[in-house]
Amino acid sequence: MSTTDTAAIPLAAQPAASPAPVRPHEHGWSTESAHSTSDGIVSYVRCASCGARRVDLAPRGVVAPAPLSLPVA
Ligand SMILES: [Zn+2]
Repeated sequence: MSTTDTAAIPLAAQPAASPAPVRPHEHGWSTESAHSTSDGIVSYVRCASCGARRVDLAPRGVVAPAPLSLPVA
């Protein structure tokens, strides 16, 4: 028996963890829903271009919301 009999067969590349790599772009967030909480206003936003979702928190007294989560496709 030669060593080639048990040589590993190269497997096809496994797909990445994310199903579809999203082309980097400036997300255009639109608010799907927003809720007032004790920490401020929590907004659930979605990118109209790629469908990525994110949760924003607008702390009380602050005008611009800050990302609370990473974009989730
Ligand atoms: Zn996007």
